[in-house]
Amino acid sequence: MTLRARLTVAFLTVVLGPVLLGALAVGNLVTSVSEERASSRLDLAAIATGSAVTSLCQQLETDAELVARYPPEDRRGLADDLVAQGRVDAVRVRDAAGVTTVTTASAPPSPWADCRRPDPHGNQRYTAIGARVALRGDTGAPAGEVWTVRAIDDPVLTRLADAAGAADAQVTLLATGDTGPVVETARQLAPGQLGQSPDGTWVRRVSTTEGQPLPLALTAPGTGGQQLYALLLAAVAAAAALALAAAWWLARSTTRPLTELARAADRVAEGDLDARVPVRTNDETGQVAAAFNRMAHRTSAYVQALTASRDQLRGHLAVLGDTLSSTHDLHRILQVILQTAVATTGAAAGAVVLLDPQTQTLTGQRTRPDGDGTDPITVPLAGSLLGAVAATGEATRGRTGTGDLESHDSEPRGGSYMAVPISAPTEMPGGGDEGGTPWPAPPAVRGVLALYDRVGGDDFDDTDLVTLRTFAGQAAVAVDNVRIHEEAQRLSLTDPLTGLWNYRHLQDTLHREVERAGRFGRTLTVLALDLDLFKEVNDGYGHPAGDAVLAELARRIRAEIREMDTAFRQGGEEFVVLLPETDARGGVVVAQRLLAAVRDAPIVITLRQAREEVAIDITVSIGVAVYPDHGLSPDELLDAADNALYAAKDAGRDTYQVATDRPRSPTAAPLPVRPRGSGADDTDAAGGGAKPPRQSRGR
Ligand code: GH3
Ligand code: MG
Ligand code: MG
Repeated sequence: MTLRARLTVAFLTVVLGPVLLGALAVGNLVTSVSEERASSRLDLAAIATGSAVTSLCQQLETDAELVARYPPEDRRGLADDLVAQGRVDAVRVRDAAGVTTVTTASAPPSPWADCRRPDPHGNQRYTAIGARVALRGDTGAPAGEVWTVRAIDDPVLTRLADAAGAADAQVTLLATGDTGPVVETARQLAPGQLGQSPDGTWVRRVSTTEGQPLPLALTAPGTGGQQLYALLLAAVAAAAALALAAAWWLARSTTRPLTELARAADRVAEGDLDARVPVRTNDETGQVAAAFNRMAHRTSAYVQALTASRDQLRGHLAVLGDTLSSTHDLHRILQVILQTAVATTGAAAGAVVLLDPQTQTLTGQRTRPDGDGTDPITVPLAGSLLGAVAATGEATRGRTGTGDLESHDSEPRGGSYMAVPISAPTEMPGGGDEGGTPWPAPPAVRGVLALYDRVGGDDFDDTDLVTLRTFAGQAAVAVDNVRIHEEAQRLSLTDPLTGLWNYRHLQDTLHREVERAGRFGRTLTVLALDLDLFKEVNDGYGHPAGDAVLAELARRIRAEIREMDTAFRQGGEEFVVLLPETDARGGVVVAQRLLAAVRDAPIVITLRQAREEVAIDITVSIGVAVYPDHGLSPDELLDAADNALYAAKDAGRDTYQVATDRPRSPTAAPLPVRPRGSGADDTDAAGGGAKPPRQSRGR
């Protein structure tokens, strides 16, 4: 059963029940009141009618006695007089033998109602009422009877009715052959009983008594009992119709919003967040509809915000993925990780810093207040929130200014914060010193990633912390990847025997330096070094000893040059030193210093097989070439330095030579072409970045 049906039934029951009961009660009350009134009225009418009939009987009796007292011969005349006077309608005298001796002209037909002997049932059909007086002889013996008769005609009935009329009643003589609802009803009634005919007329049967022998019925108009019932019925029907209409309206107005609400809820459940319910009223259902609409609106707004945030996050993750996979720019990677973490957690600001073990500071970047890009930041280990996390390696979250951790001035300020360490994914066993890795052992904590002041005011929660840890993990992997990449790149440009840059790096650096010197109008000196008679060292002490000599020579070269100068192993036992911002004079000074550093102290090495130390005296020859005097291109410069080196060899070794000036015009002599000798042994040249084998000049 639907709610609408239930409401309708309940309403109808509540409304129609009392209406029906009330109608019944009113009907009954009105009926009983009307019956009571009719009863008392008709009682009065019965008494009045009875009295009228009795007085008629008395008058007839008086007349009959008058006739009886008259001498027999005068009776006829008296009878005619009485009829003529209209006192009676007929007089009849019978003798003892029953023979009629006197009778008036027009006697009403028998039977006559006898005033003294009423018919107990009262159902006789009388047309007249009469009084009978017995005739007595002189001895007192019965001598017949005298009847004085009055026809019960309309005037009589009118008189009776007039007598009863005071009580608003009508008189009906049942003794006639009349039919009709009143007569039929009256015939059913016992004398003295009250009834009601089908047309609502009240009917009372008048008892026949001595002095009133007529079967009479009194009627009084009903108070419209039937009409009343009809009226009540009509009222009930109208009330029912009204109640039905009201029930329908009530049920509809109650259930319609619910139905609409259910439909809208279904649509929302199916994903249509634009579903709304019409708000038609201000009542509770209207309030529910309005609340639903507000809820749907908010949900829609939330979903839109979530979708936008998801799309934004996807964008950030895509950028993060691209960045991680396409670049080894650590600054850029950390910037993207920081921005993605900020966007993901809804933070207002963030910072990412890496630990610099040398300066014991944390350097990195923080988001700009306008959210566009980042600014560099340096924070000390002590006295900063980031430093505390880096020192303890413990993630933390809270509110600034409330705990022990105080922010440094350069850190972003915000109400709430959370910071997690960027820890090395795995500790490198044994550190980096062994195996020739020049990197120090990676510290457990590489840096710190921190976010500040979540937008909206809520504090960061554990879920945010987990998210931030994920980003910190990515940052740690990125830092390691970049460092490994840098290390690999550095190794590919380094000579493993001497630790100096190799030939490949020489080419890059020389190009860069020549270009820089050309652009800024500076000088650049190139020194080409070659060990003198190195073959003999190899031949005399063995190849490993030669290697040790080369390593020591490299160390001495490094020790003699400035920080901005760079030394390369070009290949075999040939080295190049680049001296930026240095002219020929400065180059010569360095060359002389290098010559001395090699010459002045023999190189002491331990021979492996003999387990003895030997001191080996070696010297080098050096060629000096200067940009722009001896060459304008890297190749020209190198060739000029090479030629000067050979000149030094030719000059007796353990000396230097400055290259000859390059020709100043097209007509000038071309650069000296270096004759390539034969028989050079370059098989021991340094690894991948070594200069391609070349033939040495025969010396
Ligand atoms: P010069 O004074 O004319 O330069 O005489 P030299 O003996 O040095 O002659 P040359 O330059 O032709 O010989 C180079 C020698 O250097 C040949 C090779 O045995 C040696 N050599 C080259 N590279 C290495 C190396 O990596 N290790 C060792 N032990 N020896 C090397
Ligand atoms: Mg050589
Ligand atoms: Mg040599």
